[in-house]
Amino acid sequence: MSRPVILCVDDERIILSSLKSQLMNNLGDRYQIELAESGEEALEILEELDENQTELPLVIADQIMGGMYGDELLARIKHMRPNTHSIMLTGQATAESVGEAVNKAGLFRYISKPWDEEDLILTVKTGLRSYYDQKEIQRQECYQSTLNQVLQLVITKASFEEQLAQALTTILSTCCFTTLGKGSIYTVNLEQADLEWSTAAQPDLVMVSQLNGGLAPENKLDFRENESQVQLISDASNSRYYVAPITLQNKPVGALYIYIDASYEDGPQTREFLSSVCHILAGMIRISQYNRALEKHSAELEEVVERRTQELHDALRKQEQLNDTFIAANKKLEYFATTDELTKLMNRRCFFERADAEAARAHRYGRKTLLAILDVDFFKEVNDTFGHQVGDRVLAQVANVIVETIREHDFVGRIGGEEFALLMPETTLEDGKEICERVRQAISSSQVVVGSHSIAISASMGLSEVRQEELTIGGAMIRADQALYDSKHRGRNLISLN
Ligand code: GH3
Ligand code: MG
Ligand code: MG
Repeated sequence: MSRPVILCVDDERIILSSLKSQLMNNLGDRYQIELAESGEEALEILEELDENQTELPLVIADQIMGGMYGDELLARIKHMRPNTHSIMLTGQATAESVGEAVNKAGLFRYISKPWDEEDLILTVKTGLRSYYDQKEIQRQECYQSTLNQVLQLVITKASFEEQLAQALTTILSTCCFTTLGKGSIYTVNLEQADLEWSTAAQPDLVMVSQLNGGLAPENKLDFRENESQVQLISDASNSRYYVAPITLQNKPVGALYIYIDASYEDGPQTREFLSSVCHILAGMIRISQYNRALEKHSAELEEVVERRTQELHDALRKQEQLNDTFIAANKKLEYFATTDELTKLMNRRCFFERADAEAARAHRYGRKTLLAILDVDFFKEVNDTFGHQVGDRVLAQVANVIVETIREHDFVGRIGGEEFALLMPETTLEDGKEICERVRQAISSSQVVVGSHSIAISASMGLSEVRQEELTIGGAMIRADQALYDSKHRGRNLISLN
């Protein structure tokens, strides 16, 4: 690496050699002293310095020279190398030209000829210090701005991989790394890694981002165990690169590789900068991890919710089916509890319930209600002669005949073996008698055919009023029964009124 240059420009050789010897005597060989006898020659030297990327901290120039004047030269150099400090050294300079140099070339100092060596050296040293201080400040500002830019990336909507790619570009474009722009970022496999790192000290790192072939050497990471320091490595092929570990809770989760060229001067500032950058990268990794964990968690949650919803639907459907079964069972139960199986009429219990309700209503509204009891005549003989099954058919037929003969709002029930009861709401005695007579005639004119036999059937009836003051049919039942007894007694197939 070539040494930084101090350029001296004067059209008098004697002055140049005197400057050179004084500078070399006082500064040692830290600096290379370049001499130019004119402004034009100085600019040629500057071109060479540019080609070799050699630093030029300081120019000392005469004002009055053949060709280009000092103030113009310094202004041009200022334009090409803004950081270079300039000192004007002349005896004949006008205040105007000095002012020009100060304004256009940012002149650091003006020294008049003949100069005092001590004064010259002090001025040169101050200029050099100022140059390096300024350079350092610029570098710090540059680092700071890079760190800020990388930090900004964390809050962008870009994916984790995009964030890292942009971070790498930003880091590599930091002024001190520009020449090569080569580097890469590796991280542990985040797909596999859990929120809490269970990785060994030597994790499997995968490359997430690289620029200009800045791969880890031979694609093999020399990420050392428990090595949390930024390292500068020079490999066999004369490549120089920084390896900066990215760590989370003291565990390695990635590495940043930055290649530098031969002229790059290593220093604690660069290492500090890389270490700070790696802190931010670690933060990005952490956030990405949380995001992944969060996404995974919500996916699991959604699955649970979906499953629960399905389970709930299933349970509801089952409940509905169960309800249907219950309703059907209840209907059946109700049917069996209220219906007489043989005749399909109301059974005794159901008839009494409805008839009592009707009696209560009649009582409330002061209406007339009639009750009749009907008993099949000589039914025992039917059973005895033709058998129980035929008897059953007779009972079913009697029931049918009654149902078909009575009015719509009358109702009938089977209250005993061959006994039926008939309730006639809102019915006068006259009408009641007429209905009973119709029923009696219908039964006695019906026949039940068994083989070659035709069985004649008849029934006797007892009719009674449900009285105004009665809330149930209990009293009417007794009176109708007595009337029925009368009918039987008087010869059967008759209607009696109590
Ligand atoms: P009466 O004219 O005096 O009423 O004579 P009856 O034979 O009809 O009267 P009784 O009370 O002597 O006989 C009733 C018979 O009815 C006796 C019983 O075995 C029969 N019985 C009762 N319930 C049923 C039934 O569900 N089916 C059949 N087939 N017979 C029944
Ligand atoms: Mg009887
Ligand atoms: Mg009978």
